[in-house]
Amino acid sequence: MKKLPNFDAMLSHLVSEPSVSSVSPDIDRSNLRVLEHLANWLDGLGFATELMPLPNRPDKANLMATLGSGPGGLVLAGHTDTVPCDEALWESDPFAIKETDTRYYGLGSCDMKGFFPVALQAAAAIDAKKLVAPITLIATSDEESSMAGGRYLLEQGRPKADYAIIGEPTGLKPIFAHKGVAMLTISVQGASGHSSDPSLGSNALDAMHAIMQELINLRLRLSQTFNNPHFDVAEPTLNLGCLHAGDNPNRICGHAELQFDLRLLPGMDADIICGDIEKIVAVVGERHGVVAKFMPIYPPIPAFETPQSSALLQTLSNCSGQTGGTVAFGTEAHFYQSLGMETIVFGPGSIDQAHQPNEYLPKEQVEAAQQALITAIQRFCMQP
Ligand SMILES: [Zn+2]
Repeated sequence: MKKLPNFDAMLSHLVSEPSVSSVSPDIDRSNLRVLEHLANWLDGLGFATELMPLPNRPDKANLMATLGSGPGGLVLAGHTDTVPCDEALWESDPFAIKETDTRYYGLGSCDMKGFFPVALQAAAAIDAKKLVAPITLIATSDEESSMAGGRYLLEQGRPKADYAIIGEPTGLKPIFAHKGVAMLTISVQGASGHSSDPSLGSNALDAMHAIMQELINLRLRLSQTFNNPHFDVAEPTLNLGCLHAGDNPNRICGHAELQFDLRLLPGMDADIICGDIEKIVAVVGERHGVVAKFMPIYPPIPAFETPQSSALLQTLSNCSGQTGGTVAFGTEAHFYQSLGMETIVFGPGSIDQAHQPNEYLPKEQVEAAQQALITAIQRFCMQP
């Protein structure tokens, strides 16, 4: 083994650097300190490291680190940010690792700072002189909020490789597909007035009610048209999440805002469906004499699907003894796939513990994850 702090020390350093990402600027934090630690350790292993600052965000960056050279190879990818946490609900300090016999507790321990020391140890365990294709480690920013880090990789057209493992917590089950997620909002501006005479205004709730009925009709059409039996919920979903409108029973409702999410199957085009929703909103708005606007809360996360004949899927499946599957959460997989990589989501820990108080990484999966990464590196970077 080359010079590298032990797993516990690396995980402790990463968790103790707060790197919450959020669409609320008051709780959003820089991820640069996490990247500094990673870059130091990667330097020690002989990786060539490159910081990729995000445009107009001096406090955010991605890190790209490469060992070996040439085309092809394997990307080991993760995000450095975490979701915010409610410290009062934690039984220990979320920004310090609490270790028990079987678990590491801490914010980001499983989602997904814990993947980095696993990947570093795997890279340290191989003989770099025998690499015939590069190992690239990618650490992104803002996966939990805007996906700005992943989007920036795609814009830059890097990294290039044949295969990518995204180390999100899947309990070491190799994941070959997930749905896309879009968070959307519709606002209706009507005109308020005395409720006794409807002609004195334009009722925003009446218009929104008609829009919601159209969305429910759209949901039915989508579920009758699209189906993918690899998913537990085999059809696309559209959830009406929250509605805020009006202020008093005796006033014509002047303003209404609806937020909803749309989870599309691989192969469905979010732009086309969002275009359909935009038309619905325009038509109903005109009919009701209100100003109705449709917009995404942030750019949609596309679905992804890798064919089940994938060599990487087979390799990871053999290592973990688990067959491939699908998950209901979104990841950066689409970006790596769009860069030309056969992509599988595979990592230690469970999504059930992620985004929760007392998030933890089970120790028993750390060694197994490391072994699987070593096998993948041998297969895709060391065999001529
Ligand atoms: Zn994650």
